Amino acid sequence: MGRIRTVKPEFWEDEKVGMLSRSARLLFLATFNLADDEGLLRWTPAFIKASVFMYDNDLDTKQIAGFMKEISDAGLLFPYLGGVSHQSLAIIVNFRKHQKINRPQPGKLPPPSLQNSAVRAMYARRDNWTCALCGLPIPGPSFDDAVNLSIDHVVHESKGGTDYPSNLRATHQNCNHSRGNREDESFHTPAYIEGMSEALIKTRNNSVIDSLNSTPNSIIDSVVDSVKC
Ligand SMILES: [Zn+2]
Repeated sequence: MGRIRTVKPEFWEDEKVGMLSRSARLLFLATFNLADDEGLLRWTPAFIKASVFMYDNDLDTKQIAGFMKEISDAGLLFPYLGGVSHQSLAIIVNFRKHQKINRPQPGKLPPPSLQNSAVRAMYARRDNWTCALCGLPIPGPSFDDAVNLSIDHVVHESKGGTDYPSNLRATHQNCNHSRGNREDESFHTPAYIEGMSEALIKTRNNSVIDSLNSTPNSIIDSVVDSVKC
C-alpha cells in the first residue's frame, strides 16, 4: 500500500460504482492507494488478497477474482498484460481526471500497448469519444479514415513523450496528423474536419438516442459513458 489519495463525494453517487457489490466497491477504493501516479497497479488475486484483504480469512483468491471481474466489467478498470514478462496489470481508467497529483512520479509499471485496439478504445471512452484537439465528436468505427480514432501523445514521442496514460489523448486521425509534433497553441482545426463538424455532431446526437434504446456492448454505448472515480 503506497499512496495517500482523495475520494470525491461523487464517488458514492456514481451509478457504476453503486452497482458494484460492497466488497468490489471496497476493493475499487483500495485500488486508488495501490495505483502509481499514472493509475497503474498490479492486478492478480494473490496480490490483491495480500494488499487489501490480508485479515479476511474467510475470503479466498477465487472470490477476490470475482470482485476484480466486477470492477473491470463495469469499465472502471482495464486489465492488461504488460511488459516483456506479461505481468497482470490494470489501469484505473479515469484516474487522473479525479486525482489531483502534486509532483507526479513517473510510472514504473509498463503501460498498456497502443498496438491493441481495445486499449485505444479504452482511452477514447475515457475521453468521451471527443477529439482533444478540435473538440468535435469521434464517431467510432467510420468509413472515413480522417475522422477515425487516433491516439495523440501530448508530449510528442520525438520529444521524449511516453505511452503512459497521462500523456495520451483521443483525437481524429486528421487532427493528430495536422498537429504533428507542434505545440497545441499552433493547432488549427483542418478544413476537412471543420467541414464535417455538423455531421460529426449529428453522429454524437444519434448515438445518445441509440444508447437510450439500449444497444448493449456497442461502441456507440461508450460515447455516453461517464465513469467517475
Ligand atoms: Zn479533431
